[in-house]
Amino acid sequence: MNFTKTSQTYLIAAFALTVTVVTGCASTVKPTTGLRTERESAGGVQLQSVHLEATKSGLRVSGTVGRMIGYGSSPRRHLDVEVIGADGAALARTTARFSPNPIRHDPRFRTRSAYAVTLPQVPPPGSVVRVAVHATSLSDCSN
Ligand SMILES: [Zn+2]
Repeated sequence: MNFTKTSQTYLIAAFALTVTVVTGCASTVKPTTGLRTERESAGGVQLQSVHLEATKSGLRVSGTVGRMIGYGSSPRRHLDVEVIGADGAALARTTARFSPNPIRHDPRFRTRSAYAVTLPQVPPPGSVVRVAVHATSLSDCSN
């Protein structure tokens, strides 16, 4: 085994580990090629990140939300997750809760809540996974 190659591998491994720690993602993350993400903040909730992962049970969509000006203290919010195909047709639609909800408020830290939902199928390349904050209660949601 070549020494330079080995240390390079260690470097890459260390880098990957750092990224994993920083983003809080599981180490089993696989790239989901050809998929795009869109996020839409609303109602004082900022959609901070959307992360896609192909798993055995489908497409896992996860990420974090935070508070924005106008959040107040209403817990009546959730996320709508929609998959739109390359031709514009809606392929899948579901809802997700984030936790903790309400999003904690601490002036010393940037507080955030996490969400995760698994869609039964990994959509074809060219699809858009759109996560939007829906500023109403889940029972009022038509999705
Ligand atoms: Zn909704």
